[in-house]
Amino acid sequence: MHAQDHRALGNRLDLFHQQQEGPGMVFWHPRGVALWRVIEDHIRRRMRRAGYREVRTPQILARSLWERSGHWEKFGEDMFALEVEGRALAVKPMSCPCHIQIFNKRVRSFRDLPMRYFEFGAVHRSEPSGALHGLFRTRGFVQDDAHVFCREDQVEAEVRRFCRIQTALYADFGFDEVEVRFSTRPEVRAGSDDVWDRAERSLEAAARAAGLDPILQPGEGAFYGPKLEFHLKDRLGRSWQCGTVQLDFVLPDRLDAAYHDEANGSSRPVILHHAVLGSLERFIGILLEHHDGHLPPWLAPEQVLVASINKEAAPYACKIEQALADAGLRVAFDDGPDTLPRKIVEARERGIPLIAVIGKREARERTVALRHRDGRQEILELAQAVARIAEAATGPVG
Ligand code: ZN
Repeated sequence: MHAQDHRALGNRLDLFHQQQEGPGMVFWHPRGVALWRVIEDHIRRRMRRAGYREVRTPQILARSLWERSGHWEKFGEDMFALEVEGRALAVKPMSCPCHIQIFNKRVRSFRDLPMRYFEFGAVHRSEPSGALHGLFRTRGFVQDDAHVFCREDQVEAEVRRFCRIQTALYADFGFDEVEVRFSTRPEVRAGSDDVWDRAERSLEAAARAAGLDPILQPGEGAFYGPKLEFHLKDRLGRSWQCGTVQLDFVLPDRLDAAYHDEANGSSRPVILHHAVLGSLERFIGILLEHHDGHLPPWLAPEQVLVASINKEAAPYACKIEQALADAGLRVAFDDGPDTLPRKIVEARERGIPLIAVIGKREARERTVALRHRDGRQEILELAQAVARIAEAATGPVG
């Protein structure tokens, strides 16, 4: 395994592990969860600002729901099925039918549309063991899954809105090169050719209106509709499909989603399915390899190490640690007997970008010797140091 493989990085940075008792699953360690939270909160902030509302839906549902949605027929073999009290149930492989249940729970008017839901949905798919690969391919993962219920004439604006969030988020995480592909009707599909004609036309027009010039991928669409795929290019030149937008005229019909239209009748909304990152697990794997484990300060599980290199300086170092934690920073503390060069090497190994060195002189003069990742060093007064570190650790505005 290469040192830059995300599994090796995950081990070195103490983020997660996998073991035989949980095939295709992930054990997240405290530092991994810290990273996860930052990513999740950042996406949440951007989605909320763009008018999406967060929901949370069940993991296990009646098989009959999946039969009605068509997932059972198409995905049944990849779904974990179980029986409880004689009732056939299945673990959700995606959240779409669940969001439709929330939409259906109230009478909706044309005035309510578009309605935008998103969920960090934990989903499970029974991937063959030979296909499993670290965080890149797992059996359990969290999808940043969003659904927009809208009228057909709102599709274009909604796709544009989503493309804006998408591009901003990729740039936030350090990916500037994105390629867009347009996938059309697959061989096995739901819905008539007429519906597919409309869906494909409408999504392509929306993509062009958003300023995208997608590459055509015939036959690669989802079973219920065409899709746009967003492929990220990483530092090593590899391409990763992460985001998708899918236009769907089929599920609203199958699961009976409807709203009161302007003519006082009942109409079906269309559904836009989309994800920015796809699987959070996989995205974290991509992110780790892209940055070779050196995550930018706003993402680093621990942003700053307070390294006390002298016993007498320890009480002052504790004060610094507290001041940094109070400023909302993720702080590690080391007052062990190791030498300063050793502490610096270890901090680098653990991916900590900033080091506040506290020795006798700093304690006496009430200062902090701040070391940056690029080797720069500056001596700052305490308040100045906290401000400088907080500034370095500030994420992209979302
Ligand atoms: Zn969906």
